[in-house]
Amino acid sequence: MRHKLLVVAPAVVALSIAGCHAHVAARPAKRLTVHAATPSRSATLFPGARLVRWHGPVEHIFFHPLVIHPRLAFTDDRLGLGFQHFFVTVREFKGILRGLWRHGWTLVDAHRAATGHVRVPEGRKPLVLSEDDLNYYAYFRGRGLANKLFLDANGDVRVKVVEPNGHTKITKQDLIPLVDEFVMRHPEFSARGAKGLLGLTAYEGLFGEHDLQNPAARARVRALVAQLQATGWSFASHTYGHIDLGADSLATIAADSSRWKAAVHGLLPPTDMLIYPFGARPTAAAMQLLRDEGFRIQFDIDIRPRLIHEYGVTVMSRRHIDGYAFQVPTQLSQLFSVATVRDPRRPPDIR
Ligand SMILES: [Zn+2]
Repeated sequence: MRHKLLVVAPAVVALSIAGCHAHVAARPAKRLTVHAATPSRSATLFPGARLVRWHGPVEHIFFHPLVIHPRLAFTDDRLGLGFQHFFVTVREFKGILRGLWRHGWTLVDAHRAATGHVRVPEGRKPLVLSEDDLNYYAYFRGRGLANKLFLDANGDVRVKVVEPNGHTKITKQDLIPLVDEFVMRHPEFSARGAKGLLGLTAYEGLFGEHDLQNPAARARVRALVAQLQATGWSFASHTYGHIDLGADSLATIAADSSRWKAAVHGLLPPTDMLIYPFGARPTAAAMQLLRDEGFRIQFDIDIRPRLIHEYGVTVMSRRHIDGYAFQVPTQLSQLFSVATVRDPRRPPDIR
């Protein structure tokens, strides 16, 4: 089970040399005054921003939990190389958020994007954000990443991280609290309050709670999920065991699906979304099996924004943002500048 997410399908890397679709150029957001006599839902949510229908493909980018202490994560061993390849640091993520904002992007809900109902503040472009493996696996420990997502005494989402000195610290230095904070400062960075889609396995629990039999842990997860739901986050299966949907048998996939549903029952809201581990595309039969399990929206990996419909399934592509992607800065230039965001503590070359 260990280190599974650090394996990526070679096809994914090969894809990063393919061309990407040009987008409508960013236009400065117009500030509109919405007349009080004609209130609309969008006006109620975000005064000053008129939401307009978006036609065309929707970009979707994804991350893993963030590296808080690069010195502990970016070591020379296999695990350290995995962190370099597939993760970004807190410093990089903060720069990426600023870049996305400046380049005219606005977060939209994954489900709405997959079902073709996207609206954005006038002049801005829609972007779906997702985070995979929000489980804080045991192998993160001591490697400079957080080990748990939780609600603090004020009801705010925070993470716990073991500092280089061995002390545990409570901090906002991970994707969810940083996005929450950024949207507070820039309300037009979110359409209808959308934040992101969270992909969860269950073989080591959820959100860093590793014992889901423990009633206190279950209560903490339920409270956390309620807060996340109320603040614009949604949830997807990332399979129970981070299995390879492109290679595993139908029997394995069916059993895994049942285990995921049983593990998250009563903890996560029902979801019809599933994120392929490793980006590995299932066979047609496996796609249909997952559809029959209720996962009608599935997500693969590509550097082009694609939305396809086959076998009764909607498949939306997602672009990986990580050390590998940083190697081809031109492909990210419509989103942010790699030269600007790259953490100087990141080793210069991927070996
Ligand atoms: Zn994963």
